[in-house]
Formats: sequence, C-alpha cells, structure tokens
Amino acid sequence: MDGTFTQNDIRHIVEADKAHVWHHLTQHKPFETSDPRIILEGKGMRVWDQNGKEYIDAVSGGVWTVNVGYGRENIAKAVYDQLMKLCYFAQSAGSIPGSLFAEKLISKMPGMSRVYITNSGSEANEKAFKMVRQIAHKKYGGKKYKILYRDRDYHGSTLAAMSAGGQDERNAQYGPFAPGFVRVPHCMEYRKEELGLGHLSGRDFGIAAANLIEEVILREGPETVGALCLEPVTAGGGVITPPDGYWERVQEICRKYDILLHIDEVVCGIGRTGTHWFGYQHYGIKPDFVTMAKGVASGYAAIACCVTTEEVFEMFKDNAEDPLDHFRDISTFGGCAAGPAAALENMRIIEDENLLENCTAMGERLMGNLRALMDKHAVIGDVRGLGLFCGAELVADRETKEPVSESQVAQVVAECGAQGVIIGASNRSVPGRNNTLCFSPALIATADDIDAITQAVDAALTRVFG
Ligand code: PMP
Repeated sequence: MDGTFTQNDIRHIVEADKAHVWHHLTQHKPFETSDPRIILEGKGMRVWDQNGKEYIDAVSGGVWTVNVGYGRENIAKAVYDQLMKLCYFAQSAGSIPGSLFAEKLISKMPGMSRVYITNSGSEANEKAFKMVRQIAHKKYGGKKYKILYRDRDYHGSTLAAMSAGGQDERNAQYGPFAPGFVRVPHCMEYRKEELGLGHLSGRDFGIAAANLIEEVILREGPETVGALCLEPVTAGGGVITPPDGYWERVQEICRKYDILLHIDEVVCGIGRTGTHWFGYQHYGIKPDFVTMAKGVASGYAAIACCVTTEEVFEMFKDNAEDPLDHFRDISTFGGCAAGPAAALENMRIIEDENLLENCTAMGERLMGNLRALMDKHAVIGDVRGLGLFCGAELVADRETKEPVSESQVAQVVAECGAQGVIIGASNRSVPGRNNTLCFSPALIATADDIDAITQAVDAALTRVFG
C-alpha cells in the first residue's frame, strides 16, 4: 500500500461503511460484531485491505471481472483523455470510442456484426430477450415468444434475467417472475445421475444431455420457442464445462426448430477461457446473440454489450415508415464514453501481452495443481474448468457425492484469506449449496501466483478437513 491513508482515515471509512453501505450478496448481521473487508488498493494480481494485509486475488475482483489486473495506467489514461474530450452522449448518436470498440470487438467475432452497448450483464441479457420477443411479433405473429434457459445457469439480477435464472435459491422470495421462460436440464457430467443419464459417458452423455433440451422444445411446441439462452461454461452454477458432443447437438437442435441461440459470455468472454476471445469459440458455435460484461473493460468502466448477427439486425429495419419497426430500447449509460474507451485499451493489452496464450498455459497449470490435490484431499470430488476459470467441487463422500456443508466451505475460504489468497465459493453445483471453490485469477497470472494459490488451498483443506 502506498501509505496515503492514516489510521484515522481508515477507521472513518470502516465506520461510514458500517453505517451506510448495503453490500451486495451479503448478510450484514456479522458486521454488528466485526468489520467488513474493505479493499483499499490493487496492483497487478494483488489487493490490500484496511488492515494493510496483502492478498493474491484469485477471483479477479471477486466475480471474474478484472481480466487484465489492477493499476493499468494506460486504461486510466484512455478514460481520462476520453472524458476530457467527450464524457457522454446518448447512443442514439455515435461516438469515436463506440465506433472503434465495435469494430475491434467484431474483428474478434467472425459471423457477428452489431454491437448494442449497455452497462451490466443483466441489462445486456434483457436486451437480447427483448429482441427475441420483438422478432416473435414481427415474424411469427407473437407466437414464438418462449425463451429457454438452463438449470444451474445464471443470467442476471433484474426480474426478467431472474426469470431465466436456473438457481432457485437465488430466486426464492423474489417471485412472481416474467412468463414465457422455460427451464431445460443442465449438462454436468459429474452429476449425470440427476439427469437419469448415469449409464452414459463422454460424447454419448453430451449428446443425450443436449437431447434433453429437444424434449423440452417438443413438449412446449417448437412453434412457441424463440430462443435458447446458455452460458458456454456455467459460472455461478458450479463451473460446469460442457461434455463432448453437447454443443454440436445443441446447435443442430436450434437449427432444426428455427430457434435463436443466445450465448451468455458475461463471465467467459474477453479471454477468460484462454486461446479464444470467447467461450463459445472453443466449441464451433454459431450464435445469433452474444452478451458480455465483466471482462469487457476489466472493471475500469461499466460497459456490457449485446452483440448480434447482421441477420438479427436486418429484422429490425425493414420498413422505415413504420414507427414500430426498430428496436425501441435505450440504455442511458450505454452512452458513457468511458466504457468503450476503457474496453478498447483493455483489448489492446490482451493482444499486446499475449494474455489469451498466458491464460491457457496458466489455466492448465491451475487445473493440474488442483487435480494433483485430489490425491491428497478426498474432499475434492471433481475439478472442472477452461482457461483461468476453474472450480473444485467439495464432497463429504466421493461415492454418494454428498456436498460438504456451507460452513465448511466458508472455513476453507477464510483459511485461504488468512494465508493471503482470496478465492470464491458462491458456486452452487448442488441446489442450495455453495460447495464449489472457484478460481479465476487475472489473465496476467504467473506460475508463481498459480502455485501460491494452490498451496493456500492445500493448507486450508488440511486445516478444515485434516
Ligand atoms: N450472466 C452471467 C453468466 C453472470 O455470471 C452474471 C453476473 N455474475 C450476469 C449475467 C449478470 O451480470 P451483471 O451482474 O453485470 O448484471
């Protein structure tokens, strides 16, 4: 830490927080007797809290966001320069960073064409849902309005995004939800018994899991189904990597029934999964919509987007005389010029520093280290992931796959924190149970960082489970 803060300043900040801040996803009762963690500074892979304690941040800002790491002067400068030139104008007009960012982004997404800028992942998903609904009205007399979403997937915190939410424990007490959203089963091979597919493995399992989606389409009536919305690798639902054969079959099913494919890249996008810019590009998928947020500007500005093909875009501009014939939607802060300015610089850094390659290499190291820990710690039931996006599912019994308790997981997270490594655990592989440790360090991670993270996990598991 740079020593800018006095002890009094810090106490004031903590007291102001305790008096007035409503933290996200947080039960506040414990703060009656303890202080919340306040992160004061970040540099590279590391952050410092109010006690001056240094941590390796193994979760990129807590929720898979700071892909290029903290303290990037070039991004700060690009944002500063842009703000001094023009801070804002509604996106009904164009802007220099908006145009250049859209061009750059599309150059990384063959087959895609149009970028609709918003400011959160939830909002980007809502835009895609609204486009699907409007297409249903324009092309199918309102009939093809249903949006399929998958068990365990998450698409955001707003009410329509929650209506497409596959984690019931997040949705409890917030209903009723929007109509026209229909759930399809997950595709987690580790828990394939839940799907009645325990007898299958590898590609056979992947195809059978995709066929479960087709069953839902046939049950609902294909003429009523407009879109299928999926995460390429499920994030908060337990870091679920798709089985072989799954995506190929999903794409076939969408084509067969004229169903638009919406890929939610809010977590996977912009390099997180390594080698490719987007998760879907690992699987040869041809989406109609791709939504993204977190890593788009690595948290240096709030920017998200809904990207579509030219075919989707064309459906909204047939008849200039008709006042209803365009996408009648706006996102006020989608016009903040800081977003695309930061996003452009963020992409430049990823290219210049070969971070897609580093992500692949470091992701393999992280997965290898975690898999090696399975020999020593029977509590690790499964290790899954792609790039620097990995999960370790903790089970009390490898045979029954009974998840460990939430308090045990919380202890593992706390033990890692005590050793100076922040890991994540809001990953529910099993309904209602946070039992998957999550790792998503910045794409700049070094081999030493990765080893330090896994050594902390090793020690924490020994402390908690022996
Ligand atoms: N989609 C996925 C896959 C996510 O993980 C999240 C956030 N965790 C969202 C959408 C929502 O993004 P936001 O919080 O920016 O609204």
